[in-house]
Amino acid sequence: MPNAKIPISVAMGDGIGPEIMQATLNVLQASEAPLEFHKVEIGEKVYLKGQPTGIEAETWNVIRNTKAFLKAPITTPQGGGFKSLNVTIRTTLGLYANIRPCVSYFPFIETKHPEMDVVIVRENEEDLYAGIEYRQTPGVAHAIKLISTAGSEKIIRYAFEYARAHNRKKVTCCMKDNILKLTDGLFHKIFEEVAKEYSDIIHDHWIVDIGAAKLADTPEIFDVLVMPNLYGDILSDIGAQISGSVGLVGSANIGEHGAMFEAIHGSAPKRANQNVANPSALILASVLMLSHLGLAEQATHIHNAWLKTIEDGIHTYDIFKDGISREKVGTQEFSQAVIKNLGKKPETLQSVTHKAMQSEDALGVHLNMTHQTRRLIGVDVYVHANPPLSNFLENVRHISIGPLNLTMVTNRGVRVWPEGAPETFCIDQWRLRFATKDPERAVTQHDIVQLLSAVERQKLDMIKTENLYSFDGQASYSQAQG
Ligand code: NAD
Repeated sequence: MPNAKIPISVAMGDGIGPEIMQATLNVLQASEAPLEFHKVEIGEKVYLKGQPTGIEAETWNVIRNTKAFLKAPITTPQGGGFKSLNVTIRTTLGLYANIRPCVSYFPFIETKHPEMDVVIVRENEEDLYAGIEYRQTPGVAHAIKLISTAGSEKIIRYAFEYARAHNRKKVTCCMKDNILKLTDGLFHKIFEEVAKEYSDIIHDHWIVDIGAAKLADTPEIFDVLVMPNLYGDILSDIGAQISGSVGLVGSANIGEHGAMFEAIHGSAPKRANQNVANPSALILASVLMLSHLGLAEQATHIHNAWLKTIEDGIHTYDIFKDGISREKVGTQEFSQAVIKNLGKKPETLQSVTHKAMQSEDALGVHLNMTHQTRRLIGVDVYVHANPPLSNFLENVRHISIGPLNLTMVTNRGVRVWPEGAPETFCIDQWRLRFATKDPERAVTQHDIVQLLSAVERQKLDMIKTENLYSFDGQASYSQAQG
């Protein structure tokens, strides 16, 4: 059918969500984009009905049966038991790539960075956002930072493909492998491997702390940035705010089986129901959606009309500045101004031409990072015990099972035995490392079970165990500090 409309799911959201979504839908309808809207209810009301994920089972089917999901921000109720709906949607649907273009609109929106034009490509499913957390002892909560070879390769490849398709020159990796040698080290290693396949694109890397400082200070030195989930979350808010406002940046969440488009900001409950919020981030997210759906002409129209409106000085409160802006408007008036400008182009700001997003053929997992020899060489046993160490050390220091002996005790990662420092502050969680001293003697799962029984016989309160492996002969676990 030549004139068939493309079905999309739409969530009106919470807080300022319904206002900015209505403004966005008005613009989409006025652009005559051939879309069919299927509204779904997610978020606060669903949480408060007793659904801890904020989304009901039948809603997944609506989302699956449409081509894209346009979502306004939602509010996660305070208190325990409620899971982040955003993370749930991204991970359940496998939306691994989060694309956040942060652009300044100087001289029409005040910014210290007139030349800024960066795209942050944030990994969307792993890292601390895997949401694996435990309270282990009265004194300790623990979260797992999970970085996989496949997850890293997918996002890094996406960043290079994005750079190529959008004629960008450089991809920069931000991570912290000086401290997180195994997790961020893996991300960095895969970045260097994938970069070899894109000799037409410059690549470099920054440790994320100084990378964030440089982004805040001289964003013009960056082009496309790729990073693990948490760093991407933080740096993209910095990027958006220094471009002019968090209310200006939309994002695309892309996966192999679906796509979701949203503002990067939250539901700003304090601004709700006042018709003051800036709908720009969601309007620009809808532009990313149109281009993803192959509706490049409508994406171009709306984007240029939006640029013209910004250039006309018609601004919401968050970007309004005496001497720069011409008229302070509310949410709906802003969208009406964009609608009036459909078909026009900006005169000073550079106009844009969207093309349909690249095919995903080149993406996926191609590197062979998994064929390594893995050998079990020990086990870390975490125990709960109040300090000092002498409370229990005598009970475990002579345990010897097969090739396994106690080689070290740490507290918060710092070695306290053998040869601990008297100044080290200790808490109620200890790591006992049992490792083989004989590299020729293989450790078996049976040795570990026997060892745990021996620790249990000493009445120690075990809270977690972690096997120690070498890969191709290299010990692949963190050593103690100190
Ligand atoms: P927020 O981004 O909602 O708002 C912080 C401040 O930024 C607001 O008070 C306002 O001054 C400004 N702001 C944000 N969006 C704006 C806009 N469009 N126009 C003008 N000003 C804007 O952050 P928060 O207050 O920390 O979070 C509120 C709620 O949003 C929380 O429940 C949080 O969990 C949720 N949240 C949702 C999403 C999402 O749905 N994608 C993302 C982040 C936060």
